Amino acid sequence: MTKVLISGASIAGPTLAYWLDRYGFEVTVVERAGGFRPGGQAIDVRGTALGVAERMGVLDEVRAHATNLRGMSIVDGDGNELHRSEEHTLSGGPLDSPDVELLRDDLSDIIVKAAGDRIEYVFGDSIASLEDGPDGVHVTFEKAEPRTFDLVVGADGVHSTTRRLVFGADAGYVPLRAAAMAVWTMPNVLGLDRWQIGHFSDSAGTSGAMVMTVRDNTELRAYAMFENQDGPLPRDVAEQKRLLAGGLADASWEVPRLLEHMWDAKDFHYDALAQVRLDRWSHGRVVLLGDAGYCGSPASGQGTSMAMVGAYVLAGELKAADGDHGKAFAVYEDELRDWVEANQAFALRGLPDEGADVADLVAESAAGLTDDFAALTGSYILKDY
Ligand SMILES: Cc1cc2nc3c(=O)[nH]c(=O)nc-3n(C[C@H](O)[C@H](O)[C@H](O)COP(=O)(O)OP(=O)(O)OC[C@H]3O[C@@H](n4cnc5c(N)ncnc54)[C@H](O)[C@@H]3O)c2cc1C
Repeated sequence: MTKVLISGASIAGPTLAYWLDRYGFEVTVVERAGGFRPGGQAIDVRGTALGVAERMGVLDEVRAHATNLRGMSIVDGDGNELHRSEEHTLSGGPLDSPDVELLRDDLSDIIVKAAGDRIEYVFGDSIASLEDGPDGVHVTFEKAEPRTFDLVVGADGVHSTTRRLVFGADAGYVPLRAAAMAVWTMPNVLGLDRWQIGHFSDSAGTSGAMVMTVRDNTELRAYAMFENQDGPLPRDVAEQKRLLAGGLADASWEVPRLLEHMWDAKDFHYDALAQVRLDRWSHGRVVLLGDAGYCGSPASGQGTSMAMVGAYVLAGELKAADGDHGKAFAVYEDELRDWVEANQAFALRGLPDEGADVADLVAESAAGLTDDFAALTGSYILKDY
C-alpha cells in the first residue's frame, strides 16, 4: 500500500485524505495545532468545488451549514448607513448564487468526518526535515519518531513548512500590499439578525472592521484589517493583538467594542494578505496542495475551492498514474495551473486601488462576483477517475 504523509488538517489536507483513502492509499496527516483548529471567517465553496463536495456526498451537509445571511450594510463612524443590500454581502457575494458560504471550521469538520477513521492524525507536531530518496521520503518530526513515506503532501497553508523545506525560505510568497487581516469569535453584542456590517476607517478601504452573525445569531465573527507598515507579522498571538489594537486605535463606529472582545478570543487568526506563486508545485516525491502551493489570498474568495478541487485532482491523478508519482504530479499541475493562475489574477482585480473611496469599494464588492467570476469559478471541469 502506498503510504502518504499529508502536512496540514484544515481543508486541503482532509479533502485529499478522503480521496486517497478511497483509492486505497494509507494516509497519515500531521497537524501542528493540538487538534482540529477552531475559527476562521466564513469561506466559500463555489463553482467546480460544489461538484467535489457532491462527489464526496457532503454537499447537502455543506448547504445545511450555510451562513444564511439576509444582507449587509456599510456604516460610517457614527453608525449611519451608507449602503445597504439584501442582494449581496461583502464576504459572500450574491445571495441568490448556488455557491455556499460557511464557516471554515464547520467545513473542515464535515470533511474530516466524511474521510472517516482509517486516516491517522498526528496532532501537535510538524515535519522537521525531509530527505527525498529513491525508495521514499525519510521524514523527521519535531516530536514523533522519524518515519519513511512513499509520498509527502504539503497542505500546510500559506506559510507552509513543507514548501520552505523543499523550495527554500520565502519561495513563492508574494505579499499583497501591507494589509493584514484578523478574525475572531465574540458574542452577538450588536443584536444583529442574520446580518453583516462593514465599516471602513480610511478612504482606501484597507483599514476597518466587519462583523457578521453566525450560528443562528448567537455569535459574531468579527474581522478587522489595517495597513501594517511595520514589516513581517509577529508569530506571537499576544503581540499580533497588540499590533492590531494599535493600528485601529483611532477607529470609530463599534470598532473599540469589537477590539475589547478580541483580547479574550481563543480562535484569533491573523495574517497578512499574500499569494503563493511557484514555477513548480512538486519536487521529487513531495508535492504542494491548496494555500501551500497556490494561495490566492482571502481577496480571491477562491482559496477553499482551489484547495478542494486541487485535492480531488491530485488524488485522482495519483490513482490514474498507478504508482508513477512523477507523472501524477505533472498531470495534476498541468490540469490546474491555468485555472489557479486565473483565480489569482482575479484576486488582484478585487483589491481596492489606492485612493478609492468607500462607495467605489462597495460597488466593486457588489460587482465583485460578476458573471465573469461565476464563469471562472466553474470553468475547471472535473474528470472522472
Ligand atoms: C484558523 C484559520 C483561520 C482562517 N481564516 C480565514 C479567513 O478568515 N478568511 C480566509 O479567506 N481564509 C482563512 N483561512 C485560510 C483558508 O482556510 C484557506 O485559504 C483555504 O481554505 C485553503 O485551505 P488549506 O487547507 O490549503 O490551508 P489552511 O486552511 O491555511 O490550513 C493549513 C493547515 O496546516 C496547518 N499547519 C501549518 N503549519 C503546519 C506545520 N508545520 N505542520 C503541520 N500542520 C501545519 C495549519 O494549522 C492548518 O490547519 C484560515 C485558515 C485557518 C487555519
